[in-house]
Amino acid sequence: MTSNNLSKDHVDVVVIGGGSAGLGAAIALGRSLRSVVVVDAGRPRNAPSDHAHNVLGREGISPVELVAAGRAEAIAYGVRFVDDAVSEATRAADGFSIATASGREIVARRLILATGLVDVLPEVDGVAQCWGKTVLHCPYCHGYEVRGQCIGILATGPMATHQALLFNQLSDDVTVFAHTATPDVESLKQLAALGIPVVEGEVSRLDREGTEVRAVVLADGAEYPLDAVVVGPKFEARAQVYEWLGGEVTEHPMGYFVETGLMGKTPIDGVWAAGNIADLSAMVSVSSGAGVMAGAAVNADLVAEDAATALELAAVR
Ligand SMILES: Cc1cc2nc3c(=O)[nH]c(=O)nc-3n(C[C@H](O)[C@H](O)[C@H](O)COP(=O)(O)OP(=O)(O)OC[C@H]3O[C@@H](n4cnc5c(N)ncnc54)[C@H](O)[C@@H]3O)c2cc1C
Repeated sequence: MTSNNLSKDHVDVVVIGGGSAGLGAAIALGRSLRSVVVVDAGRPRNAPSDHAHNVLGREGISPVELVAAGRAEAIAYGVRFVDDAVSEATRAADGFSIATASGREIVARRLILATGLVDVLPEVDGVAQCWGKTVLHCPYCHGYEVRGQCIGILATGPMATHQALLFNQLSDDVTVFAHTATPDVESLKQLAALGIPVVEGEVSRLDREGTEVRAVVLADGAEYPLDAVVVGPKFEARAQVYEWLGGEVTEHPMGYFVETGLMGKTPIDGVWAAGNIADLSAMVSVSSGAGVMAGAAVNADLVAEDAATALELAAVR
């Protein structure tokens, strides 16, 4: 059973978020002839970067181009897009009622949450300005691009040593800046054994030219020239819609997320989640894959519901 008339404002599935995860879900559903609306606020997490890596077949593509291509593919299967932010979600008799910031209302039988996460960056001047360019977090996303360069690790939590080890694989010139999280004794021993220096003292700012980091500047004025800085953001799932529907986020040492079961099913009946909202470490390919699986699970759930309804109708005939 399909319906492709958005004016009815009643569809099989609303996907909230049109990044890698939401697009993966939308394409799987569109190919199953489901009526699908993707509501997307248009800010994919990796947009600050010029290139997306580890994307099979599209290595190094611009993140903006990647979602544009995914959107075009979804549209070709009849998926419709609303460029807006979901500002309200409630349970309705026949599913869920969604309202957007500009006042549009859509009723859907099922919901897929693909709203990603917010990277809460350390509050050091220069970090936000260079984020995604020369201030980095993930060795797999941009480590290769800074291989052999002078890299500083800005320690704000226990992950700093792990990051130092990973970036040490890519460069012989890695320094840990202890800042607000001096590594513990075992970590200090490990770093020393690998020849990774640890600089004590609070970092006051990053010296930079535009988005290019030039140096780490300590509170006492000491300057350490370098090419890239690695930070450990707090990862906060964009879980507002989930919470409006009564869901609760799950704490994680690196932030919080929406816990899901098989193929992205959440504890809320009729609601699935995919991508960074449900998996804080998911990269682009993993997010789109999780979206495809959530889309398939939602389609199967709708098929099962329609079969049960048909059976009931047949029984009273
Ligand atoms: C700087 C940086 C660089 C990265 N580089 C890489 C890389 O090279 N390779 C790689 O594999 N991964 C990379 N990643 C990780 C990658 O960004 C994520 O894996 C991916 O974006 C997750 O996809 P997603 O669909 O879950 O979320 P997102 O891509 O963040 O998409 C979520 C979408 O939902 C929308 N949205 C949020 N709230 C609402 C709402 N209320 N209503 C409507 N829409 C909403 C957002 O605007 C956004 O468009 C990088 C991450 C960062 C931070």
